[in-house]
Amino acid sequence: MKVHKVGKVESNDGKVLRIVHISDTHMRHDQYLESIPKGDILIHSGDFSAFSVGRYFGNKSRDREEMIREINSFFQKLPFKHRILVAGNHEMSFDREHRQFIEEQLTEVVYLQDKMVTIEGLNIYGTPWNIKRVVSYARGFAKPKNALDKYWKLIPSETDILVTHLPPEGILDLGKKSFAGIRNLFSSNDPCNVCGDVHETKEHWGCRGLKRTVFKRVRPTLHLFGHVHEENGVTTADGITFSNAAMKLIDNINVFDYYL
Ligand SMILES: [Zn+2]
Ligand SMILES: [Zn+2]
Repeated sequence: MKVHKVGKVESNDGKVLRIVHISDTHMRHDQYLESIPKGDILIHSGDFSAFSVGRYFGNKSRDREEMIREINSFFQKLPFKHRILVAGNHEMSFDREHRQFIEEQLTEVVYLQDKMVTIEGLNIYGTPWNIKRVVSYARGFAKPKNALDKYWKLIPSETDILVTHLPPEGILDLGKKSFAGIRNLFSSNDPCNVCGDVHETKEHWGCRGLKRTVFKRVRPTLHLFGHVHEENGVTTADGITFSNAAMKLIDNINVFDYYL
């Protein structure tokens, strides 16, 4: 297990918090129980649920209650001092209006929906909003690209750890291109205008407005997200550490020692 060091690594006064990041468990959470290492703060960045026809057409309040039970029972098995959850597009019954109900019912985990929590001096802010994709029926907290800025504006500048479900554009965000076969008939193999690489069958799922907010205004130490399963990993850009912890296909867990 590789542990990434973040925060005041050089000038630290001896206080270190271990942060374990998981995401996109899509109802396979019990398979991961054994491989989740111990730490101080466990953060799940969304898509605890999986898509199902029943969830799509079924009774939303019953689905919400079932998911709450499942989430509580999972987190209760993990002995962390602090546990945090942000929803993803698969949390289809966790609509905006039910924030308070969900917060109250999730007794084993702190639920962050456009909200900040301060833990041992660290400001952790979570927001579930993501870009609506034509090909996906899982549309919890999903909005058209140009409607997301108002949620990014809510992120406080003093955020140390930002938790979103969606990646910022161009960072660990290369997912399958929708209708790739048809769209490639009309496009050449020109380099991508975001990253400069050629990636015919993939496209950037991340959000440009979120990228701008993260790099130019908020500048967190750590930005945690998931959503793009193919891109599990950790990278650093302009002094900010980014983590995509999507686990559906990989049980590689991203762990950070945060030097306070
Ligand atoms: Zn690209
Ligand atoms: Zn997702």
